[in-house]
Formats: sequence, C-alpha cells, structure tokens
Amino acid sequence: MTAHAFPTGTILGYPRIGRRRELKRAVEAFWAGTIDAAELEARAAELRAATRERLAALGLGRDDSSIPESFSYYDQVLDAAIAVGAVPERFQRLQDDAGRIDLAGYFTIARGEGDDAPLEMTKWFDSNYHYLVPEIGPDTAFALHADRILAEFAEARAAGFLTRPVLVGPVTFLLLAKAAEGAPDGFRPIDRLDDLVPVYAELLAELRAAGAAWVQLDEPALVSESIDEPRDRVLDAIGVAYDVLGSAEDRPAIFVAAPYGALGDALPPLAAAPIEAIGLDLVRGTAPERPDPATEESLASKTLVAGVIDGHNIWRGDLAHAFERADALRSLSSEVAVSTSTSLLHVPHDVDDESDLDARLVSWLAFADQKVAQVATLARGLAEGRESIEGDLDAASAALADRAGAPGVRVPAVRDRLAALADRDFSRAAYDERVAAQESLDLPELPTTTIGSFPQTGDIRRARARLVKGELSDGEYRGLMREEIERVIRLQEELGLDVLVHGEPERNDMVQYFAELLDGFAVTQHGWVQSYGSRCTRPSILWGDVSRPAPMTVEWSTYAQSLTGKPVKGMLTGPVTILAWSFVRDDQPLGDTARQVALALRDEIGDLESAGIRVIQVDEPALRELLPLKLADQPAYLDWSVGSFRLATGGAAAATQVHTHLCYSEFGVVIDAIRNLDADVTSIEAARSRMEVVDDISTSGFDHGIGPGVYDIHSPRVPSAAEVQALLERAVAEIPASKLWVNPDCGLKTRGYDETVASLEHIIEATRAVRAEL
Ligand code: GLN
Ligand code: ZN
Repeated sequence: MTAHAFPTGTILGYPRIGRRRELKRAVEAFWAGTIDAAELEARAAELRAATRERLAALGLGRDDSSIPESFSYYDQVLDAAIAVGAVPERFQRLQDDAGRIDLAGYFTIARGEGDDAPLEMTKWFDSNYHYLVPEIGPDTAFALHADRILAEFAEARAAGFLTRPVLVGPVTFLLLAKAAEGAPDGFRPIDRLDDLVPVYAELLAELRAAGAAWVQLDEPALVSESIDEPRDRVLDAIGVAYDVLGSAEDRPAIFVAAPYGALGDALPPLAAAPIEAIGLDLVRGTAPERPDPATEESLASKTLVAGVIDGHNIWRGDLAHAFERADALRSLSSEVAVSTSTSLLHVPHDVDDESDLDARLVSWLAFADQKVAQVATLARGLAEGRESIEGDLDAASAALADRAGAPGVRVPAVRDRLAALADRDFSRAAYDERVAAQESLDLPELPTTTIGSFPQTGDIRRARARLVKGELSDGEYRGLMREEIERVIRLQEELGLDVLVHGEPERNDMVQYFAELLDGFAVTQHGWVQSYGSRCTRPSILWGDVSRPAPMTVEWSTYAQSLTGKPVKGMLTGPVTILAWSFVRDDQPLGDTARQVALALRDEIGDLESAGIRVIQVDEPALRELLPLKLADQPAYLDWSVGSFRLATGGAAAATQVHTHLCYSEFGVVIDAIRNLDADVTSIEAARSRMEVVDDISTSGFDHGIGPGVYDIHSPRVPSAAEVQALLERAVAEIPASKLWVNPDCGLKTRGYDETVASLEHIIEATRAVRAEL
C-alpha cells in the first residue's frame, strides 16, 4: 500500500465523446469501414491526451492522481465486462486464444451481429445515459483482461501524467448484470461475487505494478434502493468485496465513489472496509448525520471526497454553499477533498463554445470545463482557507441573484394559469366510454403502427443544416419536409400499416424541437452529451417560465393527414420527458415546471383535435428514468410526473385516442404509474428482452391498449418474420388480442431505410400470420 495523499480536488469522470464529438465520428467511421482499428485507436489516444492536458490547464494536478482515466469507446460497464472476461457464450467466438477481444469484437458485443443479439441496454441510474447489461451465469469464467486499462494508464504516464484509473466496482457490476440465458431459476449474478473479486484484486495488483497510486471504483448501485436485490445482500456484498480488495498487499489506494445519491445504510459497511477514500454525492444526498460510533471512527481515518459540484446539471450554482458543505465534512475527517457529485459525462464540454447563447444566461451556467475550474477553486479554498477564494464565491452568488430576478424567469400569466387548475383538469372520460367513442377509427385486431420517427436521412439532415446556414429559405425547407412526409405516408400505406405517422423529419430532436418553439428554453450549439455508444443528445436549457407562443406541430400533422384516409398520429413529447432530456431550472420544484410544460401541450392537443387529428401520441420515454433512486422519494415523483401527463392529455375528447410511448421494458417497476397515465394505448420496448415483459403486463391486470415492441431499433439487425411472429405469439398468449398493438420498440430515426423497410415488412407479415391464428 502506498501513502500517497488523495488530491484535494478531482472529478469523478469527464465527457469522452470530445468537444466536437470526435470520438463519435471516429467510431462511426470505423463501423462504416472508412478507417481501420489502428486509426481509431490513434484518434482515441489523441482525444485522451487532449483531455488530460485540458484538465491540467483547468487546475487538476498532472502527477497527483487527480485526473481520472475515464475514457471508453462505447460504455464503461461493457469495458468492465470485457476486463473481467464476462463475455456471453454467443460472443465467445470473438475471443482469441488468450481470451482477448479486439475493438471490432467489442463493438459487436455492443451492437449485435446476425442472429446474435447485442447486450441489452438500459438507463444508468436516474440519468439519460444507457449502459450495456452484462450477462452473468453460474459458469461465466471470470479472467482478467486489463490490457486496455493498463495501456491507457501507461499512455498517460508516458505523457507525464499520473492519472487515476476508473472502473465500475465489482458490487455495482454484478448488481447491474442480469442472469445469463440458461442460468437456473433463482440464480443471481451477485452469487458470483466471490469469484469476481479476485479478478479485481489481480487488476489492482497490475495497476500498482504499473505505478498507479490511486484507483477509483464506482459503486453507484450502493445508493440506489431500486436495485432488484434485498438490501441486506447488497450491504453484505460491500463488506465481502472491499474486505478482500482492501486487504490485498500490493495495490493502489482505493477510492470508492458512490454517485447519484446518499449512501445511507451502505455507509457503515463501506466505512468499515479497509479502503482509503469514499466519495459522497452531496448534491443529491446529504453528509452523514450522526454516524454510529464505529462508523465515525472509521471515517476519521479515511479521505472523504465531497461531491459538491453537480455533475448532472449545468448551473453555475451556489459555490459558497458548496464550499461550506465540503468544509463541514472536516468534522468527520481531517482529510477532505472536493469533487463533482457524479462523472461529468452528463454535461457538455464547455460553455465558452456557446457564442450564440445570451450572455446573461451564459453567466449563470457551468459546463464540464467550468465545473472542473469550480472544483479547482474549492480545492484551493480547502487548502488555503476560504479567504483565498472569496472573490470566486461572491461572483457565483452574484450570478445566482441576477438569475433570480431576470425577466422571463417568473412570468405572471403562466403562474396565474397554474394556480387556477382544478382536479377535473387532470381527467378524461371513463376508459370504456372512450373505447366506444374510438370504434369509429375502425382498426383491425392487432393494429400495426410505428413509434413516430422514420429514418433521418442524410438529405433531411443536410436540408436542416442548409436552413440553419441560410442556404435554404424557410419555405424551401418546409417544401422538402413535406415531400419527405409524403414519401413516408406512401411507404406506410404500401407496407400496410394501420395507424400512420408523419415520420418527424422536421424534428432535430424530440425535445429540442419543442424547446425551440416554447418560451422559457434556450438551445445550445455544441452542448452534446453521450446517450449511448456513439449516440449523443443536445439537451436544451429550461431556464424560465414555459409557455407556447404558437401551435408547434399542427401544420405538419394536418398535412400528413390530408394525404391519407388512414388515421395519422399527432406526435408530441410529454412533459416529464421534456424535463428529463433538458437541463432544467433548479430554482423551483420540478412538478411546477412540468405543469407549465403540460399546459402548453394541452393547448397543442386542443389545436390538433380541432384540425381533425384523431390519434395523438404523447411520448414519455423518460418517465422511468427520473424515478428517484430512493423509495421514499418515489410517491411524490410519481404524483407530479403522472399528474403532468394527465394535465397535458386531460382535455382530449373521448373519441381522441391518446397513445403514449415508454422506451424501456421494466414495466413492473412503474406499472401503477403507467396505469395512472390512463393513456388509451401504451407502447413499450420488449424486443431485446424477448417479450419477457408480457408476463408483468398480464399479471398486473393492465387492461388498456398495449404495444410491446417486436423490433429492436437500437441495432441494425433485421428480425425475421418468424422471429417477430414468435414474439407476437408469446404476447397473444398473455394479453387479450383486442388490447394488443404491434409496433417496433422505439422510433426509427437512427435506422437506415433498407433495414427499416425490411423489418416493417417482416412485422406486417408476422402480424398477418398471427391474426390468422386468432
Ligand atoms: N416519437 C419518438 C420517435 O419515434 C419517440 C422516441 C423515443 O421514445 N425516444 O422518435
Ligand atoms: Zn422509445
């Protein structure tokens, strides 16, 4: 064991995608075959080098382990799976004789190939980042493959840096894993902890031999009470894992980070373990209050890393308060450091890149680079005393005060309307009455539909880019979008779909599109954050009171409807999702903000109905994502989130069929919430988990329309008609045919036309076959 002190200021991780999405471009070029693996490696190395230099320039030390080595080509959970040899059987063909997997193989596991489905993907805690779910069985042969981790550490050393390798910790790794196919009933990945931990120990030894002073093991699963595992088991696992890892002779100092919430009852076992530093999320959680004497004693000998700079949001925030919170930890330990509350993976790189944003708004913001500088400031304050940073603290407080009083932040008309809401505004006619009124839609059994978007082709993107550059007039752009809508309508008619969509070509993004049309939002130019793999989103900034100056979608939907006799769905993004995928003001309860957005959507729904649209989908893919990790916080969340959806849709006539779409299949977790949304039809993801969800649906007694997805749109793979038919047969066995809808897992915007058309043909073919069996 080494005696290196933990650095006074650090961050838990940094965006990996690059300021100009360099990694996205390189990875996609590799997939497309335009660059080879060596070129991809070279570009990634360049990006890592630039990141280290940048972090040092912003005030993190070059040689004190304060710079995290947190790069990933695709996903950090996949990286951990590869590092410990947890390769599902179907991908073992990708391993070489020594069990190693090359870059191409790595991406194959992430994206699937032929009949080999990729690892399932799901949301990372309460964020919009998605990780790949490891598959662990009783026979998974754990073995260390640390080449990449060691190489990145060595690469940093060669450039004059002593960095801190970051890995998903063993307990979180297993808690996030699912049982491999064929594992016996009752098997839980965490059962394999004793076999996995030695592999981590071996890795620590190798890192030590390579010169690492500190290693960071991320254990966010410890803060989550929504993990499907008895809490005792989780607490035991911490003790077991960190006793073993901490007792190893030859290892770097261990920093266990617990982002996304308070550790709560996980603190005592972690404190008791022979590790050197613990990271506390003091943005979402609070400092440990009156720990028991044993815990208090153990904490006193550890470094407490105060996560006081919000890694999850983009506000400059109250720096003085952050300093106080970090400083207060000194009552628990003499060794206190500051850091971000989570990895900065969730925020864009640099607010200085946003030349088009209003300067006043900019002065209220902090993106990743600004947050690193804030950490450096607070670290200086801890080391040299508060006086040394007084000027920075005051400047942040002044910005906060300016924000509170700025025009648009509080708009009386919006507030009055909210204050006047009554219970009846949150309810529609009874479900049976609606079903009867919607008979006029004249739909067949097992109606087929899609989730909304069709492929966003290069032509569409180019047209939008040219509009932004001023090379196309608004009229020309609209004309091109109309042509696209017409193509998409004709295609759906030819395919034989029952409820059509306009394809959303005019939307750059399902949230940003609305943010640009609503008051109270600002949009960034370069504010990209990684969503999964090479996919990024550009969250808008919701900074003020929200209202709708004019209809947002009516023109497009009515144009599409004018082209066909089949119903075309009006397509809106729901209030919870608009909040979840934006950076939201933190100066009032989320529920208040959600209701403002809901009222704007309610007006839009009224306008769509008046224009003759009979089916309206309000997407809420993020409903589950925002679910608080702490059970005690969940009822209040479900109340405002479900309430805002009901407020948005509550004005719809009985004859209007309201759909919603949720992007995940953990139906059981939020079944009551989904029921309470009271949408006429709900589409969800189900293909990747091969329809497992229908069991939950049928046992829950859910009795509204439901469309479990039959086509995994996250991968370029085309499912065969037989495969879709098998999924549908599984669904009709559990769900009454009169309630079952047939649709893909999610929107098609990221797919190409070839695979989209082929997949939809197979879906229609399979549906016809299953209808004939009814
Ligand atoms: N209507 C959106 C689309 O089809 C829904 C996307 C989503 O759920 N993420 O793209
Ligand atoms: Zn979706």
